Amino acid sequence: MTEITEIIDNKRIKALLAREKNLERFNLNTYMLPIEGPSGRTVTVGGEEYIMLGSYSYLGLINHPEIIKVAHETLDKYGSGAGGVRLLTGTTDLHKRLENRIAEFKQTEDSIVYSSGYVTNMALISTLLGKNDLVIIDKYDHQSIYDGCILSKADWKRFNHNDLTDLDRVLEEHRKNYERILVIVDGVFSMDGDIAPMPEIVEIAKKHDSFTMVDDAHGVGAIGPNGKGVEDYYDMKPGSIDIMMGTLSKAIPSVGGYIAGNKKMITYLRYTSNAFIFSAALPPVMTAVALKALEIIETDKDRIQALQKNIATFITRVKEMGFDTLKSKDTPIVPVIIGNDIKTFRFAKKMKKEGILVPPIVYPAVPKEGGRLRCCVVATHTEDDMEKILSVIEKVGKSMNVI
Ligand code: PMP
Repeated sequence: MTEITEIIDNKRIKALLAREKNLERFNLNTYMLPIEGPSGRTVTVGGEEYIMLGSYSYLGLINHPEIIKVAHETLDKYGSGAGGVRLLTGTTDLHKRLENRIAEFKQTEDSIVYSSGYVTNMALISTLLGKNDLVIIDKYDHQSIYDGCILSKADWKRFNHNDLTDLDRVLEEHRKNYERILVIVDGVFSMDGDIAPMPEIVEIAKKHDSFTMVDDAHGVGAIGPNGKGVEDYYDMKPGSIDIMMGTLSKAIPSVGGYIAGNKKMITYLRYTSNAFIFSAALPPVMTAVALKALEIIETDKDRIQALQKNIATFITRVKEMGFDTLKSKDTPIVPVIIGNDIKTFRFAKKMKKEGILVPPIVYPAVPKEGGRLRCCVVATHTEDDMEKILSVIEKVGKSMNVI
């Protein structure tokens, strides 16, 4: 009898299984390590404690006492799931409050919440844009933006990463062929840790009578003097960026995603986006967690300052050691370039042996020789944690001739 795996492209499954076997053979597989507790400044794996250098909980809110308290209270009052899709019976007062709160936080007219960030991008692109429209994306945009383009009936084109001249060229070349154009970029790029030049992108898009959207998954709660994201970082006027997307799964320690922007557009999404109509609502408990996190971000400025201080220390010191950190600056994601796949996996393994957990990222997620540790700095890393991380990374870097 033929196996179900016959359905998968033979070459691809063979290559994948061979790669996995190889990693297992050399005991280098650090994927899907089961973490036995919260993704905090330290984590427990296999009963051992490690300093975590790869958590998206940038502000360390994942196990904040107020977050845990509100989660318990909401669970007691609302039960576990939402019991329906948003359009019909899955909307609670908490969902309404969260959408209003996000709109206030992002200084927009309204917002809509979906049950994941990934789904949010897919929903937005496939619902708003159709035949005769063009989506222009940065080459390094998140996969959910690519997948949204594939699902949409609109055409899509790419421009070179953070390259304003190339964006201008693509717009110039294609503007006349389409009714509407939406330019979409990540605010903070998730593999390189650099920031989109948002004011210039808006200016170029406007020059070509086109709209702009930012996916600020890694910017919210991380960059800008108030931790509000990319518009805060550049001190842009409210409304400068047409569509603001973000996730509730990173600095905001919940799950879900949102679109913030014009009221009529949000109403349209509520009644027409399939992910809102045909998929279960965010559980009330996770909705309440997101609400509480927004309140903490707005009131506890020390946290954002602690994060930004740790980011500055980490980037400055690893650069001084001689590591290549690309153009990352001011963001909690700091790529430390190692080289090819195996070297990158080995580096991460050695870090783990020394008590530090950091994810190796390799091709195809990044270019072939651009294997890297994707280091994520958090607000709750102590000075001692930072010193330990830095001394280990330097020791391993020297022993492996990376620096
Ligand atoms: N956009 C970006 C830039 C991301 O990095 C991610 C997740 N890594 C997403 C969207 C998807 O968000 P979520 O994990 O909340 O589905």
